[in-house]
Amino acid sequence: MTGETDPAAGRRRAELAESLAAVRARIAAACAAAGRDESEITLIAVTKTFPASDVRLLAGLGLTEVGENRDQEARPKAAECADLPLTWHFVGRVQTNKARAVAGYADVVHSVDRPRLAAALSGAAVRAGRTLRCLVQVSLDAEEVRGERGGAAPGDVPELADAIAGAPGLRLGGVMAVAPLGADPMPAFARLAEVAERLRRNHPDARIVSAGMSGDLEQAIACGATHLRIGTALLGGRRAIVR
Ligand SMILES: *Cc1c(COP(=O)(O)O)cnc(C)c1O
Repeated sequence: MTGETDPAAGRRRAELAESLAAVRARIAAACAAAGRDESEITLIAVTKTFPASDVRLLAGLGLTEVGENRDQEARPKAAECADLPLTWHFVGRVQTNKARAVAGYADVVHSVDRPRLAAALSGAAVRAGRTLRCLVQVSLDAEEVRGERGGAAPGDVPELADAIAGAPGLRLGGVMAVAPLGADPMPAFARLAEVAERLRRNHPDARIVSAGMSGDLEQAIACGATHLRIGTALLGGRRAIVR
């Protein structure tokens, strides 16, 4: 199946091309408003719940960054797309016992939020002969709900960052966060920018700020995000995952 001759694939490609153009236009407008250059922004397509064929179509449209949040889904998808020049971002919570699997295909892990996970990823990366770029996931949630969605408390970030920077097989890339549910993302992203700036004082190369999803990419760009993780706006609505 080439996709050139398959009408369903052709329609899907057109749909993805259109949503990609729309997202790129939003990014351009947000950069213009913030006085930033578009070249500072990396767009990651979060393809969770969508098939490898969509990843292939997006790659054909020039996207090189793909994000996934569950190992059991990401692993076979990455294998199916192994012939494509893609960078794989793992953006979901990583159970320590999945570190070895994730280290096998992920290039960037956005969700490192505890020293034990950093240690497990380090061991797995060394065994696999790979280097993993790791971001410290920062919780921007109120203390009462911290833990439910992952992320280190802002005060714990420096120590965790040092642990990653010193771990064999890992490279510290920067920080990541998800805006709190149902609240204005602006103050949360501003807080993340402060945490990121403080991190760069000790780790000047850790310049990644991964923030911004389909609903809040403008606010993230206004607050200095370098990496956007976009699912719905690119691929469409997801079905609820039944486990
Ligand atoms: C699903 C997911 C995204 C993408 O969310 P959309 O709102 O669909 O753009 C971004 N980041 C993480 C951590 C996710 O799990």
